Amino acid sequence: MGIVDAATRIVGLMGWPVSHSRSPAMHNAAFAALGLNWAYVPLPVPPDTVGDAVRGLRALGLRGANVTVPHKQAVLPFLDELTPAAAAIGSVNTIIVGEEGRLLGDNTDAAGFAADLAAHGVNISVAHVAVLGAGGSARAVLYALGLGGARSVLLLNRSPQKARDLLTEMQPRFPECTMRAEAFPAGIAAVRETDLVVNCTSLGMAPHAEGIPWDEAVGFRSGQVVYDLVYAPMRTRLLAFAEAQGARAIGGIGMLVFQGALAFEKWTGVPAPVEVMQQAALAHRSAQNP
Ligand code: NDP
Repeated sequence: MGIVDAATRIVGLMGWPVSHSRSPAMHNAAFAALGLNWAYVPLPVPPDTVGDAVRGLRALGLRGANVTVPHKQAVLPFLDELTPAAAAIGSVNTIIVGEEGRLLGDNTDAAGFAADLAAHGVNISVAHVAVLGAGGSARAVLYALGLGGARSVLLLNRSPQKARDLLTEMQPRFPECTMRAEAFPAGIAAVRETDLVVNCTSLGMAPHAEGIPWDEAVGFRSGQVVYDLVYAPMRTRLLAFAEAQGARAIGGIGMLVFQGALAFEKWTGVPAPVEVMQQAALAHRSAQNP
């Protein structure tokens, strides 16, 4: 980061906690690389102060913020407007402070996921996909899959009712994509028939890297793609197992980078230096959330 002065434009990350995040390193490296007088700061926001914090963005003249757990849904009532993606997903990971302090909520997780799949040459269109987990990230992934033209989605969750409720919301938006819910792990045998498996559970994430959202008695197919949103560790137990079975394994660091790059572009209006952000994210090894 260069010298912070009266002209510095500030953005930040609202979450609780935010101390392990890679986002400040990614964004500040990008500002420095482009010579932009901007700074990205961690903004730890206790859960009972979310409304004050969102209004504070406007009051303090910030240009925007990223939003992470546990506030992605909680910020919604305090925003002036939502993008179609944020409204459909029902959560916000990026706030843009616009003209006259108008607060626009966006969600770049879905587009970040789609961009990373495309960067890896994985085509969503007409794919049969299994999604493990039905929390916040699964909402964004389902939206990306529907928008990208996936032919079918099998959604598995430990709490099957939560998966069914999510499909009740998402299926009508994407009638061309057949969506069905099953209990996790009971339903995983059917996952073998899919082209792409996406882990949206937190199982396997440091410091509990021994976790795996899978039953290792069930194999993957050669040629199947397994995408793990978890990016700390980079190579999760799920990815190692999938690779050992001949599947193609992709970790979630690229999604993290692309969702950040998209937020960067919305705030600054300047194309993001994606490679610089990727290097900064990789260099920052201790992080556990975006
Ligand atoms: P949520 O807390 O919203 O959802 C967690 C999901 O994991 C739920 O479906 C939950 O099931 C399931 N789960 C948790 N523990 C278990 C368990 N022991 N057994 C079976 N299922 C379990 O989290 P998010 O969706 O926000 O995030 C999930 C992961 O994705 C995190 O590791 C996060 O860091 C990562 N992520 C990565 C991003 C990236 O850019 N790469 C972006 C966003 C998230 P249930 O509903 O039954 O509780």
